Amino acid sequence: MFKKVLIANRGEIALRVIRACKELGLATVAVYSEADRESLHVRFADDDVCIGRPPARDSYLNISRLIAAAEITGADAIHPGYGFLAENGEFADTVRASNITFIGPTGEQIRQMGDKAAARKLAHKLKVPTVPGSPGLVADADAGLKVAAKIGYPVIVKAAAGGGGKGMRVAADEDQFTQSFGLAKQEALAAFGSDEVYLEKYLSRPRHVEIQVMGDNHGRVMHLCERDCSVQRRHQKLIEEAPSPAVDQTLREDVGEAAVRLASEIGYVGAGTVEFLLDEDGSFYFMEMNTRIQVEHPVTEMCTNFDLVKEQIRVAAGEPLSFVMNGQRLRGHAIECRVNAEDPARNFQPSPGVVTAYHPPGGPGVRVDTHIYAGYTVPPFYDSLLAKVIVHGNSRDEALARMRQALDSFIIEGVTTTIPFLSRVMRHPDFVAGRVDTKFLERAPQLLTGQE
Ligand code: ADP
Repeated sequence: MFKKVLIANRGEIALRVIRACKELGLATVAVYSEADRESLHVRFADDDVCIGRPPARDSYLNISRLIAAAEITGADAIHPGYGFLAENGEFADTVRASNITFIGPTGEQIRQMGDKAAARKLAHKLKVPTVPGSPGLVADADAGLKVAAKIGYPVIVKAAAGGGGKGMRVAADEDQFTQSFGLAKQEALAAFGSDEVYLEKYLSRPRHVEIQVMGDNHGRVMHLCERDCSVQRRHQKLIEEAPSPAVDQTLREDVGEAAVRLASEIGYVGAGTVEFLLDEDGSFYFMEMNTRIQVEHPVTEMCTNFDLVKEQIRVAAGEPLSFVMNGQRLRGHAIECRVNAEDPARNFQPSPGVVTAYHPPGGPGVRVDTHIYAGYTVPPFYDSLLAKVIVHGNSRDEALARMRQALDSFIIEGVTTTIPFLSRVMRHPDFVAGRVDTKFLERAPQLLTGQE
């Protein structure tokens, strides 16, 4: 086992990893930018190193500074968290080349799945269904128009290097296509440094269903059931739950088996997520694989009683999976709400500033993963996630009632938060009935403002 783990991240996920390390008896190193000096992850780690100025490219994305921080503190492993360098193959390779263990898959596995067009091809080869679309990359708008005519409109142009909902543009018809194609390419180049794109048919009312997988160095890959992340805004997740109200045991076995097949094919090691779209008729299609721990991992933890972050660390140290489950052992129902410092009534505009009062909810089955406290300043440089509220109940109804109770007693003052909006969603008849898809919020704009 390792002795000391450096966490190449900030915010709630850095704290989450520190907790897992402490339970395993491992020392920890926090890294921080000048904007995060007062952060809790710095306070709770055994050692800390300032790695640069606030913009992420000068600190959390600076590979050589992170390696230097590990070397001077004697860390023998690095956990990347999510975001920042978590899915950067070069980072994983450089960490290993420096004789430090990277807690995650190999650089090669990250690259194989990071190119979404290549991952689609691999899925196709393994007979895992993919959304109808271009077989590979699409070179120019003219070639794209031909593919689009074949698969039928609407279509979505997607960045091969995409992530976080960026570099995606929908074209409703032929007239829109050339413009959407150009915009997707531009956005992809700006966000990912690559303007490679591919095409998919744009499904009108899909649900987002993803499978948590975990593999070890001994050739085993298992899945830990699905999460439903259909409540989204601009292709970004806001609320997640497990199990999915739309997935029965037969479908769970089918999708789970498809996810395990894909991960096994590349000898996947560590925690990963295979994302699918579930169509209204029950067909499912592979979308992409994320090769890291995800923001929404706690809903799976609550329903399986399994600590995914501790398991990531154990597996990286060469230990076999501590048990193998494939879709069994789910108990009860879990829901997660992402609380952001944003104003839903103003197009989710970020609201950085000082948290003047803070009191988290509690009670049975309520978990809050957060890095904020009274007096904390939310910096403007990073994403605006303040906290994740996760609840667990014996039934979905109990989980829903718990989430309403938890949100309504969550006090955060000084910054505008998405709590009132989330609380309205928890009472919306369609959400209560489990009848949502990725377009749910577009159809219910009153949820954003609270005005009927
Ligand atoms: P990212 O990697 O940026 O998160 P994904 O490929 O995971 O992008 O897609 C994010 C979301 O975009 C999905 O959850 C879904 O809401 C929407 N989406 C992506 N592809 C399609 C499609 N072919 N049809 C309908 N919606 C899609």
